Amino acid sequence: MDRVDERRIFTVTDLKQYTYCPRIVYYTYCLPLIRPTTYKMDAGVRAHEKAGKREERRTLSAYGLEEGQRHFDVWLKSSILGLTGKVDMVIEAGEGDGRELIPVEYKQSRRRIGTHIRHQLTAYGMMLQETWGGRVRRGFVYSLLKRRAEEVRLTERMQEQVRDLVTEMHGMVERERMSPPPRSPRQCVNCEFRRFCNDVL
Ligand code: SF4
Repeated sequence: MDRVDERRIFTVTDLKQYTYCPRIVYYTYCLPLIRPTTYKMDAGVRAHEKAGKREERRTLSAYGLEEGQRHFDVWLKSSILGLTGKVDMVIEAGEGDGRELIPVEYKQSRRRIGTHIRHQLTAYGMMLQETWGGRVRRGFVYSLLKRRAEEVRLTERMQEQVRDLVTEMHGMVERERMSPPPRSPRQCVNCEFRRFCNDVL
């Protein structure tokens, strides 16, 4: 992938939301004044702050590791991908050729890991590889409700999808063209933009 147009850097959250529903990114960039701040968003920030403090007291066994160094709230920026974002934690394990970087995201959910979360972790993994060097082949989602970490493989196919999605996001925002709603109306039920989408539910 060539270096993307430097005029716009999307966030990894944009990428995650674009996978969930492209319209959310449309509203964010093409109609920026309408975005509501919901109780759910504020509660999510507070839960993540608490999770970081608890994580410091936990061992790495939740991730199947005996030792490693943890880095919290790591800001990453990739000029190749055209993305920026803050990953909840990076575990740095092993040394030399065996050094591995593992992105970890905390989630306030019991649901299975959706594709949007896999794209989010994959993007962090690609950004880590670009900026920190070292091997990145997996990440974890830590469910704050289940108190369990689940491994996500960061495959070549997922990386390809991330590159394609970033290109699509640029195209959509530049053309200012709103996408159709998702096939399943289920994801509209709790969406903060629901009152702006008159063609759903
Ligand atoms: S209400 Fe549905 S279509 Fe509209 S932004 Fe939300 S998820 Fe997308």
